[in-house]
Amino acid sequence: MVTITEVIPYKMDILLAEPFSISFKTYTHSHGSFVVIKTDEGIEGYGEGCPDKPITGDSQEESLIFLEKASKYLVGAQVDIENIHGILDKVERELFPSQTARNAIDIAIYDILGKLEDKPIYKMLGSSSPNIVPTTLTIGLRSIEETKESARKYMERFEKNGLRRIKLKLSGDPESDFQRVSAVIDVFPGEITLDANQGYKDPKEAVKTLEEIYGIAGKRVILVEEPVPKGELDLLKYVSDNSPIPVFADESAATLEDVRRIAETGSASGINIKLQKAGGVYYARKIADISREYGLKLMVGCNEETFVAISAAINFVASDSSVINADLDSDLLVIDVQITEENPLEYFRNGSRYPTDKPGLGITLKNWFRDLLYGKISLKKIPSGNDRTDNL
Ligand SMILES: [Mg+2]
Repeated sequence: MVTITEVIPYKMDILLAEPFSISFKTYTHSHGSFVVIKTDEGIEGYGEGCPDKPITGDSQEESLIFLEKASKYLVGAQVDIENIHGILDKVERELFPSQTARNAIDIAIYDILGKLEDKPIYKMLGSSSPNIVPTTLTIGLRSIEETKESARKYMERFEKNGLRRIKLKLSGDPESDFQRVSAVIDVFPGEITLDANQGYKDPKEAVKTLEEIYGIAGKRVILVEEPVPKGELDLLKYVSDNSPIPVFADESAATLEDVRRIAETGSASGINIKLQKAGGVYYARKIADISREYGLKLMVGCNEETFVAISAAINFVASDSSVINADLDSDLLVIDVQITEENPLEYFRNGSRYPTDKPGLGITLKNWFRDLLYGKISLKKIPSGNDRTDNL
């Protein structure tokens, strides 16, 4: 058995390529965590947490406190996924839940397990050939003209990657949402997904808007995420029962318990699994099992993550043939800092994300990033002019 010798958590803040807006928030940075787990076999695993309180339930600060405590309990533990989650349960009982800290540790453990078996994670999970599905590239909330322009830009920029699906954020304002969808279907010939991020307070208004959108776009619109306020399953069920476009739960389907409730009440026809909400691959698989049992469809989404966490999601998609749509684009669009030797763009082909097929997560950290992690580089801005207080 392989034993953990060291767990090193880091705070990781990344400036986004450009601000990104959804119905309730504008993002300028990704505020997350990074974790390195070392073992007595000399194999290291890497993980990344990307908290976003309204979606994952935890803040960056909470996730770092969780990681700090977990890192102490994990030293000396056997690298066994059930065992590790048992230890994390204990941390959760003593502190609070942190799904993104759990995810960071979970994917670092899968990274180690894959490297030990010399297999990519999806093969380790039992899939001999990867399940490959189209990924959407997301357009945040913008004016109608800017939305149209973004669609054109994506088509140009990702033509070689075979772009097939675009995801549009909805605002909750029926008129502008309809106009924005209409503008995109005019210029983009592929499929579209929608995400209201709880934007519609009135479920009847949501259904009416979705009917109108369906009227002009038909089956080209394959799904809509989280139309109404999170956790209001009666409202969600109303929209799901009456909308011509399949409704997927996202914010309302964070944990395994949430998904069970949605499945039992028939409140949605699909689930957006995010490893950052679920607490890693271990729980995502359990969510997938429940979803299959109740005939729910699956998509896999992301937060503002680098290729490290995205690789875990790509491997999860590749491992499970019930996933019909991926929304794994943050490493292509909003994070323009590359911390891995592998270029994410090379793993976006035919409009789909592909695993690198190297062991574990299949990634190699860039030397400069490793040097940062191991304290060989320290970056601090030198104060200039009047800010300068020392004698440098
Ligand atoms: Mg969503």
